[in-house]
Amino acid sequence: MLLPSRETYEELVEDFVWDIPADFNIGRSVSDDWAFRAPDRVCLEHFSPDGHHVSLTYGQLADRSSRLAAALKALGVAQGSRVAILLPQGFETVISHVAAYKIGAVALPLALLFGADAIEYRLNDSGAETVITNRFGLAKIRDARAGLPALRHIILVGETEDGVFGFDNLIETHDPIAEQAATRPDDPALMIYTSGTTGPPKGALHGHRVLAGHMPGIQFAHPDLGQPGDKMWTPADWAWAGGLLNCLLPALLLGVPVVSSPGQKFDPETAFRIMAEMGVRNAFIPPTALRLLRPVENPRSRYDLKLRTIGSAGESLGRETYEWARATLGITVNEFYGQTECNFVLSASERFCVTKSGSMGKPVPGHRVAIIDENGEVLPAGVAGQVAVARPDPVMFLGYWNNKTATDKKFIGDWMTTGDQGVMDEDGYFEFFGRDDDVITSSGYRIGPGEIEDCLLGHPAVRLAAAVGKPDPVRTEIVKAFVVLKDGFTPTPTLTTQIRDWVKHRLSMHEYPREIEFVDALPMTTTGKIIRRELRARA
Ligand code: ATP
Ligand code: MG
Repeated sequence: MLLPSRETYEELVEDFVWDIPADFNIGRSVSDDWAFRAPDRVCLEHFSPDGHHVSLTYGQLADRSSRLAAALKALGVAQGSRVAILLPQGFETVISHVAAYKIGAVALPLALLFGADAIEYRLNDSGAETVITNRFGLAKIRDARAGLPALRHIILVGETEDGVFGFDNLIETHDPIAEQAATRPDDPALMIYTSGTTGPPKGALHGHRVLAGHMPGIQFAHPDLGQPGDKMWTPADWAWAGGLLNCLLPALLLGVPVVSSPGQKFDPETAFRIMAEMGVRNAFIPPTALRLLRPVENPRSRYDLKLRTIGSAGESLGRETYEWARATLGITVNEFYGQTECNFVLSASERFCVTKSGSMGKPVPGHRVAIIDENGEVLPAGVAGQVAVARPDPVMFLGYWNNKTATDKKFIGDWMTTGDQGVMDEDGYFEFFGRDDDVITSSGYRIGPGEIEDCLLGHPAVRLAAAVGKPDPVRTEIVKAFVVLKDGFTPTPTLTTQIRDWVKHRLSMHEYPREIEFVDALPMTTTGKIIRRELRARA
């Protein structure tokens, strides 16, 4: 499951084998395995804004998670039960995940940014009986409590109160669990809800194998991860597949310390401060966050950055942001692609000469990805179609939770469809065109919003942009752009014309936005994805 040591992409693909151990367990792979060899090795470092950073060792993680595992078992949490983890980045979050895996329960990460309704929906849909949270999460659960019939136990991090179990107290009063669950790679381990960008979020259930399946991708996008001094961080919530599986768990498996930081609203200066102060060398930064870093002036002279590798996924990175990172940070961002159901299957890797501005890279060794038509036939290079992944694949979900119909609909034969349109070029590079629903049809042309948004971003006044199709009697749809301006710019008719001409002269005539609306912010999921369906409704 780890990349062999090879010089070229072709050799890697040729020589890669999936050798996932028959008793693979996510929890043990990220804690006990290292605790056995190097108990004092640091696994987590917590950034504190006041400068009092604290750390946790693999020995401590293994011990505390084994104690919490015993406590969960004593509460009646059985193999397969869902344990909701409603916590920000922090030690307790990792301890909770590992404890759940060690008893064969299913970890269900939830973001604290969710409101009470979003939490209620996911807790009810999953039938979780136990939730581990802090006082912010507790307040939201209390708001929803009447509507949560399945929920039996609340475990609270921080000061305890009546009616809940104290997290630290459970750990102090239980001995490490005598016998951990014997799990196989296909046994359920983790359930993550999709971002809900295109509709109601769906629970994607994964086996323990999912982490093993992420290892080649991580090592491809962050070459030689695990070098002395390497340290990983992401501003993304660990409750999202991105934060959890593109950063936290693979890094811990490789023995790379992960920096945790309190999850407030993304602030560019704070992000640079965290990376500098904590000595972050490897970062997973989604495109939206990278775009928000762009207005920061001279980050390399103002911050002592040790960054070595940056991976990015979740949205199109785009040429503008790719070039910005090269010029400003001196790093080629390795963009990769996947979805909650099947993650990290395409990736760039500059080290292996797989990098191309505007492309998501090539299939990661171990995964088979192709562009297919509606009958499941593989399309040749240069022809646009649906991005699809062949099964079996360890990163592929076991199925949507309680929704066999939706699971079945996801497959055409042995191809898992992604709902994303793309094209592969002659050299094997994949380019993202747009989600099925986001593709704009105008005057007979099919237009991906990404290219327009990327072009808009290149305009000096534009901070963020989104393009959608607006129904039009003559052209079927016209392109409408929603634009957030950088500080110091104000919306005027002149600016509108300027921005329109900017796109008109750079892209083809049919692609320029006939309408531009200036907004203060774009509707986004908690994972930083633009919700274009809301903008379409508004348009
Ligand atoms: P939902 O399925 O609930 O609508 P979602 O698809 O946004 O939400 P995720 O699974 O978090 O939920 O996101 C996966 C999607 O993100 C992919 O299907 C794709 O549309 C988009 N995506 C991920 N990586 C990239 C990338 N590198 N370039 C373009 N799009 C990407
Ligand atoms: Mg999706």
